[in-house]
Amino acid sequence: MKTFSQAAFLAAAGRAADLPPQGPPEVAFAGRSNVGKSSAINALLDRKRLAYTSKRPGRTQTINFYQLGEAARLVDLPGYGYARVPQPLRAQWRHPLTPLDLQLIEWLGDVPLLVLLSKADKLTRAQQAATLTKVGSLIQAEVRLFSSATRQGVDECRGLLAGWLQAGRGNKRPPAKGI
Ligand code: GDP
Repeated sequence: MKTFSQAAFLAAAGRAADLPPQGPPEVAFAGRSNVGKSSAINALLDRKRLAYTSKRPGRTQTINFYQLGEAARLVDLPGYGYARVPQPLRAQWRHPLTPLDLQLIEWLGDVPLLVLLSKADKLTRAQQAATLTKVGSLIQAEVRLFSSATRQGVDECRGLLAGWLQAGRGNKRPPAKGI
């Protein structure tokens, strides 16, 4: 989809009154703080620093909108679930699908869902495969390994999103994969 390379910043909203008027379909990026949402947006748009990334979790506190021509918008949401906790506890968070993630997925209802298993470069091939299988067995959604650092999964996710946007998929989740 050509529009992925035509991205431009549209708006940053810190309160409801600042939200831009409704426009084309939106692809929203939701997830825990620091999982790589802004980096994923930059990778998908082939831009180095359009979306603001940070080494310090919990920095993005506005809802940031990026316009893809007339076709779509990408929306970077503030992350959830960040708390200052000691390192050993934090290590467990690498576990995919925390209770907050599952709550979000349930809350989304039948909004089409693409789950990016981000920072896949931090896992070995075997760990990647195991994580993909595990997450795929737990939720009904498209699930892809993703790394902004190595660009793993970038083209595939672009293709998937472009297909959904072009088909004007409405509000239906993609069909379950029968796992
Ligand atoms: P956000 O809070 O979810 O938007 O996360 P950011 O995109 O700001 O990224 C948080 C941190 O993770 C930054 O230090 C990024 O450089 C790092 N990061 C993001 N994506 C990747 C990735 O694919 N691989 C690795 N190793 N680090 C990443």
